[in-house]
Amino acid sequence: MDKFSEKLLDWYKINKRQLPWRNSNNPYYVWISEIILQQTKVSTGLKYFNTFVSKYPTIFDLSKSTEEEVLLIWQGLGYYSRAINILKTAKVVTNKYDGIFPNVYNDLIKLPGIGDYTASAILSICFNKPYPVIDGNVYRVLSRYFDVNQPINKHASKKIFHDLAKSTLDLKNPGDYNEALMEFGALNCKPLKPLCHTCVLNEKCLSFKKNIVSLRPVKVQKKQKKVRFFNYLVPFDLENNTIIIKREDNDIWKGLYEFPLIETSKTLNSDDLIYMYSLPSWAKQDGIFISKIYEKTHYLTHQELRTVFWLFKNVNHKFNFSLNSLRNYPLPKIIVDFLDNLVL
Ligand code: SF4
Repeated sequence: MDKFSEKLLDWYKINKRQLPWRNSNNPYYVWISEIILQQTKVSTGLKYFNTFVSKYPTIFDLSKSTEEEVLLIWQGLGYYSRAINILKTAKVVTNKYDGIFPNVYNDLIKLPGIGDYTASAILSICFNKPYPVIDGNVYRVLSRYFDVNQPINKHASKKIFHDLAKSTLDLKNPGDYNEALMEFGALNCKPLKPLCHTCVLNEKCLSFKKNIVSLRPVKVQKKQKKVRFFNYLVPFDLENNTIIIKREDNDIWKGLYEFPLIETSKTLNSDDLIYMYSLPSWAKQDGIFISKIYEKTHYLTHQELRTVFWLFKNVNHKFNFSLNSLRNYPLPKIIVDFLDNLVL
């Protein structure tokens, strides 16, 4: 076991990427980076991290912000509840802990948006405490090295991998060890085409020896994505002003802005839209020109959104949002894509 961690740490010293949150053990930076990097590639996350900490250099700066400002910076990253929870946690840490992150597991996991993964990352990286951090990269490396045939995306397997990660943890350098294991999974023991023949762990890697690397990790088949049909009504008044509305329900994109939406159970044509659904009064006037101007399927982790934008032109009604002002609001990516393609 010692060899495993020693080899991994040696590999990390030579191969680790220089990333801004690795330059210090500041819990604020580690926390923000870990939240951003959930479900996000490092190359994408890096840009968001730099923007985020240059706007909010400290947790005190962040705690004074608003949900809308934070969502605007988060725009395009997805999983927007992460941004809302970041702001909530900043306020709790500032008010309850004088801006100093707690270094006790049970205190950390009570903070909004902080679960076992983030708490363990903060505790090991910033406070040198022996908590294993298990992300997708770690699951893959452990599953291959120890030839674990339990599905990594099944709840029942969590304890197996947690125990394994704990038993391999380097107790003197838990933070470096955790980062090394994640980095090794990202750069060497990659999902496709892992670099097995030059790998520093290949002598004892069971999957490599058995020639079953491509069969690890085991995953159970995911449920099919839920398909939803979104119809955005995009009106323009005589001065090309329009309307956007904040999403308030506990659904995707809570807190973001969008055009008036009609969700249906199938794809519509314009007659279906006009005669089968209850449209706002401004959409029912004579002389309005209605056309389908943009359609795109947007994929989320568990949902497929078949989205159509319906243009309502010459609406004799005054709206409050100029086209240019829309980008000052946090918007879902599908709306940004639509605006990028809009030609009036
Ligand atoms: S030998 Fe291959 S599968 Fe095993 S740890 Fe190294 S890269 Fe991963």
